[in-house]
Amino acid sequence: MAGPEQGWSGVGGALAARLAKLDLHRPRDLLLHLPLRYEDETRLTPIAALRPGFPAQIEGEVASCEVVQQPRRQLVARVRDASGMLAARWLHFYPSQQKQLAVGRRVRLFGEVRGGFFGDEMVHPRVRVVAADEGLPEALTPVYPTTAGVGQATLRKLVERALHSEAQDELLPSSWRARLDLPGFAAALHDLHHPPPDADPVALERREHPAWRRIKFEELLVQQLSLRRAYLARRARAAPPLPRCGTLAAALLAALPFRLTAAQARSVVDIAADLAAPHPMQRLLQGDVGSGKTLVAALAMLQAAENGWQAAMMAPTEILAEQHWKKLAAWLAPLGLEVAWLSGSRRKREREAELARLARGEVLLAVGTHALIEDPVSLPRLALAVVDEQHRFGVRQRLALREKGGSGADPALRPHLLMMSATPIPRTLAMTHYADLDVSVLDELPPGRTPIRTRLVSEARRDEVVARLRAACAGGRQAYWVCPLIEDSEALQLQTAQETFDALAAALPELRVGLVHGRLKADAKSATMAAFAAGAVDVLVATTVIEVGVDVPNASLMVIEHAERFGLAQLHQLRGRVGRGAAESECILIFARPLSDAGRARLKVIYEHTDGFVIAREDLRIRGPGEFVGARQSGVPLLRYADLEADAALIEPARELAEHLLSHEPALAQALMTRWLGGREALLRA
Ligand code: ADP
Ligand code: MG
Repeated sequence: MAGPEQGWSGVGGALAARLAKLDLHRPRDLLLHLPLRYEDETRLTPIAALRPGFPAQIEGEVASCEVVQQPRRQLVARVRDASGMLAARWLHFYPSQQKQLAVGRRVRLFGEVRGGFFGDEMVHPRVRVVAADEGLPEALTPVYPTTAGVGQATLRKLVERALHSEAQDELLPSSWRARLDLPGFAAALHDLHHPPPDADPVALERREHPAWRRIKFEELLVQQLSLRRAYLARRARAAPPLPRCGTLAAALLAALPFRLTAAQARSVVDIAADLAAPHPMQRLLQGDVGSGKTLVAALAMLQAAENGWQAAMMAPTEILAEQHWKKLAAWLAPLGLEVAWLSGSRRKREREAELARLARGEVLLAVGTHALIEDPVSLPRLALAVVDEQHRFGVRQRLALREKGGSGADPALRPHLLMMSATPIPRTLAMTHYADLDVSVLDELPPGRTPIRTRLVSEARRDEVVARLRAACAGGRQAYWVCPLIEDSEALQLQTAQETFDALAAALPELRVGLVHGRLKADAKSATMAAFAAGAVDVLVATTVIEVGVDVPNASLMVIEHAERFGLAQLHQLRGRVGRGAAESECILIFARPLSDAGRARLKVIYEHTDGFVIAREDLRIRGPGEFVGARQSGVPLLRYADLEADAALIEPARELAEHLLSHEPALAQALMTRWLGGREALLRA
């Protein structure tokens, strides 16, 4: 609805609706609707000097204009200047265009020349009829992002008007502008909407021009402001304080056959301190595959239980949830703590009994799949929600677990939230899209692991891989064989898994081959996983159900078929299923040709690197931040102009200034947010 705030004057309803699609709701928004690129109409190129592949403008006289039928109906005009003749061609045209190109008219054509059906030609050039002595524009012509039904000319006119009517207040303190060498806001807008012809077009195009830096800095600043505000709002809420008693934790640690790594110990301290505070923790525990996150989570859950509160851990797959449950139960039962297991597949009676005891608060700890967040589950004294492999859940699911508390305890209390992920967040993203989280990093693996060797093998040499598998298993090792990902077809994926299983079982009669996939009954799946964990299955043929979390230390060979179809994070996760014990581990990536550029790039990265941080950074580079770990759904405004890689150097100062503004210049902070986010800020808070 067009409120007074969203008013356009002199803009019809239909146009206003189309502008809304561009997220333009009022004249002020146009100031920051910045050009995608520019066209240089400030000069003319003689036809003879045109270079194929480069946009240029020519001026000449229409020598002919006709509709031809070959090879299909189209409009072809020829324009002549003193240096030569050029064809222009329209595959779609209106009768009015034909009239405009009357023989003898002077026209300017703007477009890219290329060799074509009619010799050197421009296809769909922009045409302007001009008088003989008409002057050239003095600024580069901006080309704006647009949508169907909103022409460039319309946008240019609207932007022009906005530049005259709308305030362009300077909202950055001058000391900061000087320090970062940034031009003023109004000057930057002017340069971007009207670059003078001597402006460096390459710097403009690549968004390296000082005017762009100014705008991008402001955008990053606003992002930091809104993140910082969300952080402060969270700190203002109440959570049950869970002081650390430590006796149970000490007993658990004493019973383990190993000691915490230094990184685990540090994270435990971070988390314990957060849990003791009276406001909700929101912490990400980030550690490469195999770094031992489960144990850190178990200690946090223990801290809740010690205080008489409930804690729940949610995992994305049934296999993983069951594995966590078994592990937690084994660790905690000796301490007298019971752990409930909730999965969609448990028998109804068992499940109902379990639910009732959780609802009465008799059982304090629970592990489950997303079944945990379903309706009948009530955890009245939930004080800690743990989400494992958090990137596998949507934002809503992650938060839903937190909402499970409440009915019994003080409804104003919010549980603490611990998220875990092996998909590391590159530094730039951690400082931007995830800046409202506190982060603990497990940057070391438990001792005694041997590095994984990665090999790339073409599909033509599949037999060699089977031979390799036979030899490895003969030596007492266990292996995973991961079947190809088949997009959009679960049925086909299952079929392939079944066929692979049959083929391997036939080829390796002396080995015990197992199969798990998503459609297997939970009992069967769990029996096969248990057999594999116990060493009673040598080769586990699997779909990506084993992608995350699965922990069978004796498995040391991982084979991935059609590895080129998998994403980098997925390959890294799958590879992380091996290399968990002392045995030397190997990961064989079978690929099929032809390889796409992206597929080739991913294989190169996974072959060359084992460090999850490096892999994530490369992933970010190949895919771009928008797609990264669900950033798009994170509720944080996406950046329109700043680029996390290219503009990384601006992020730290933006963060500093954001803190300064919020504590010393709240009015400026508010004005900046309004300028960039308008009414959207409330929405982003949700
Ligand atoms: P991830 O971080 O990938 O979730 P896990 O929690 O599954 O890793 O741990 C991987 C394996 O390492 C498990 O078998 C776990 O019991 C073991 N582990 C955890 N911490 C240590 C440690 N400090 N020393 C040795 N082994 C450990
Ligand atoms: Mg894990």
